[in-house]
Amino acid sequence: MNLNVAPNNWISRTLNAVWHPCTQMKQHELFPPVCITRGQGPWLYSDQDQAYMDCISSWWTNLFGHANARINQAIVDQLNKIEHVMLAGLTHPNVVELSEELSLLTQGHLGHAFYASDGASAVEIALKMSHHFWRIQGRSEKNEFICLANGYHGETLGALSVTDVPLFKQAYAPLIQGVHVAHTPDFRKAPEGIGAQKWAHMASQNLESLLEQNHSKVAAVILEPLVQCAGQMGMYDPIYLQLVRKLCDRFEVHLICDEIAVGCGRTGTFFASEAAGIWPDFLTLSKGISAGYLPLSLSLTTEKIYQAFYADSMVEGFLHSHSYTGNPLACAAALASLRIFKDDDVLKKNKQASINLKAAFSWVENDERLIHFRQQGMILAFDLSASTFASNPQFASQLFKQGLKHQLLLRPIGQTVYVMPPYILDTDQIHWMGARIKSALYATLDENLHA
Ligand SMILES: *Cc1c(COP(=O)(O)O)cnc(C)c1O
Repeated sequence: MNLNVAPNNWISRTLNAVWHPCTQMKQHELFPPVCITRGQGPWLYSDQDQAYMDCISSWWTNLFGHANARINQAIVDQLNKIEHVMLAGLTHPNVVELSEELSLLTQGHLGHAFYASDGASAVEIALKMSHHFWRIQGRSEKNEFICLANGYHGETLGALSVTDVPLFKQAYAPLIQGVHVAHTPDFRKAPEGIGAQKWAHMASQNLESLLEQNHSKVAAVILEPLVQCAGQMGMYDPIYLQLVRKLCDRFEVHLICDEIAVGCGRTGTFFASEAAGIWPDFLTLSKGISAGYLPLSLSLTTEKIYQAFYADSMVEGFLHSHSYTGNPLACAAALASLRIFKDDDVLKKNKQASINLKAAFSWVENDERLIHFRQQGMILAFDLSASTFASNPQFASQLFKQGLKHQLLLRPIGQTVYVMPPYILDTDQIHWMGARIKSALYATLDENLHA
């Protein structure tokens, strides 16, 4: 391994000792990772004391900035009481309060929170519960799932089976169950002259025919409401969710809304499903739920599904568990975060922030190399045009590097540039981010022009 380029000890040691996620480790020979030693608000600081604005909320988790005083305090208070206790046979106030509050946020449509630690596990829980429900009903042949093209639900084997990202999936095809893939309502994929609504209707017709043929074997449809985030921030019309809800009812198939990325106010409403006025049979949360502090995930479900498992026989129980289920510290972070939502009227403030966000990126609309300028609440994205991307094939990693030079943490996906910032940016910071991203982007495109 060539470690000559490593500027300091931490980099050499991470490359020797740590296998980094979603990374071809060899590429770090040329471009080593950055060592972050502290954070404050939207800023991350390296061991070299370089500051970077966290434009992507550290993989979409951090809602209220780093080292948030209120969340820090809540964790310290909890730490002085009990750090962790198992959740089988025992309970604790934080997990009770958090579950009650989340159910209230669904106006009681969903509840019975079942906890895990990472998003993929919350997805596994929803998939398993859905099939198990049908089995209890004497319909164990319902053991298949429908997902959307370009959807992402995590990378454990069950979650990966309903993920449609070939790069993540191809090496493991023999290990995972087959799945039905429905057309995506992502409006970037619509043919010329077909609007977002019409395209959503067309995608729902494709789902309808899949259900017509397979409903007797299908347990659930799983999707990300409003935005397919890992699918290059593919956005779609909320009418699609209403159409899917009706189809799922008609064909007796569950709807799983994976709100791991889009939940917790990210798209404008607390739950993205609310924008369409629907509730799923299962709703999964992770990422933002603990405000980016500690691993926590959960799946909410309906009274009807909960009641089906409520029986004298052990095998009709949901016999699934994770060691850190409902960890008290993680729940304390989540409760502190929900308190900030209330105390600071965050959803209302985000409405204004998202208007400012759009204004800060108005330059995108005047550049014909940039297409599909789109926004859903606190997610804003645009793509390089096909010809621009063709002359910048290494675009994502180049813009990542230029971002660092411009004091920005960005992580473009293919030809898509996006921001998903923490909710605490003020108007000046939002405009600073927009202007810096413009400079970093133009530096990247220029770099290749002169190469
Ligand atoms: C990130 C993500 C997951 C997986 O969560 P992990 O904590 O990374 O396992 C699942 N679904 C969606 C929509 C996600 O964005």
